[in-house]
Amino acid sequence: MANPFSATADRAPVCSLSYLHPQPDSPWLTYLAQVDRVLPHLGPLARWGETLKRPKRALIVDVPIEMDDGSVQHFEGYRVQHNLSRGPGKGGVRYHPGVTLEEVMALAAWMTIKNAAVGLPYGGAKGGIRVEPSRLSRKELERLTRRYTSEIGIIIGPQQDIPAPDVNTNAQIMAWMMDTYSMNIGATATGVVTGKPIPLGGSLGRVKATGRGVFVTGSEALRRMGLDVKGLRIAIQGFGNVGGTAAELFAQAGARIVAVQDHTGTVVHEGGLDVAALARHVAAHGGVGGFDGGQAIGAEDFWAVGCDVLIPAALEGQITAERAEKTTARLVLEGANGPTLPAADDVLASRGILVVPDVICNAGGVTVSYFEWVQDFSSFFWDEDDVNMRLDKILGNALARIWDTADRLHITLRTAAFVVACERVLQAREERGLYP
Ligand code: NAD
Repeated sequence: MANPFSATADRAPVCSLSYLHPQPDSPWLTYLAQVDRVLPHLGPLARWGETLKRPKRALIVDVPIEMDDGSVQHFEGYRVQHNLSRGPGKGGVRYHPGVTLEEVMALAAWMTIKNAAVGLPYGGAKGGIRVEPSRLSRKELERLTRRYTSEIGIIIGPQQDIPAPDVNTNAQIMAWMMDTYSMNIGATATGVVTGKPIPLGGSLGRVKATGRGVFVTGSEALRRMGLDVKGLRIAIQGFGNVGGTAAELFAQAGARIVAVQDHTGTVVHEGGLDVAALARHVAAHGGVGGFDGGQAIGAEDFWAVGCDVLIPAALEGQITAERAEKTTARLVLEGANGPTLPAADDVLASRGILVVPDVICNAGGVTVSYFEWVQDFSSFFWDEDDVNMRLDKILGNALARIWDTADRLHITLRTAAFVVACERVLQAREERGLYP
């Protein structure tokens, strides 16, 4: 009989997790498929590949709060630390009714890849609460945030895991998180979250950093493709922090924003939407729906709008194989995390459409979060030009390395980004060894 404790015992690889029952379009399955594509390129390091397919730690918390009407409601919250081999966990917190453990696991895993692909000294983490925040009053939102922070307080900290904003969370929510954590430990700990307001240790340039990163990596991709930004037609899904900033910067550089879609509607204008007017409309009405500076079209028609560049900057799983067949874009810039399903990746590659993957395209946010964390520790703050200059340099270098890897191995930019990142993560894993 084989000794079950022997390293040579005959064991099938165990990749499934007993607590998950993923649907076919699950972001976690998308992530696993991306990892499977990279393993053949990792040589001997592939023996550690299973590390990438499991979150190191996943915390599910009950978040009860007293509502303004005196009732008590319970919300489900999560914090997942996917990998901590290269440093503390780092990743945002999402408030959305569709948040699930599986989604947070995938988002945490993409943070591991992103931080390693860019060379930031972090592991990957992510958090979220299943909630529709627009239904809560400001006071309820504050109570929810403070209780959630207390519940996950056992695993976060400036040297353990550093949350940041994501969908439907912002600088105010980071301020409440920082204050709650600080009150609980009895000392002001500015470095426990990033994306804070400037007077509380936030960094200049952080708010626009993700959209700026989309613009910087996108412009470099266009330059390498021999295309000029001026006059290019751009379609953007999502007009929040990421999509809104990317629209503003591309429009300033002379591109035409021909279509914008968000959760309230889709507007198109062949001659280019007035981005500043659209931003004012969104601020006043909560979405692009009803904007009279363009024509409203059906949600599915967005994917067939004539454009040169497509920027998904909303949620994951948006570019399906069918939508990938429809697009006229030559370049896809992934502002969102995980917006392209693996089958769609294949369609885009076969049609010769280049994809700058999320793990580099939207890495501007976490890069400036890293700057914020460094500034908080040193209590020395940089001016915005300094922040932007360092950001452009880090993203430019990371993209160049990924591009070279893609050329050398004849693989997509996504698989190349995963090769660069997984090598770094698994090398750290190997050098640290297994304890005990
Ligand atoms: P946000 O809350 O500011 O904006 C989200 C946008 O998506 C809104 O315009 C919303 O209307 C739109 N949207 C939501 N559901 C939609 C739907 N079903 N169809 C079409 N549009 C929909 O969020 P954000 O910070 O801009 O984040 C957007 C994406 O970028 C997310 O995938 C997030 O994980 C990713 N991201 C954000 C950052 C950051 O620093 N904020 C960093 C890296 C990646």
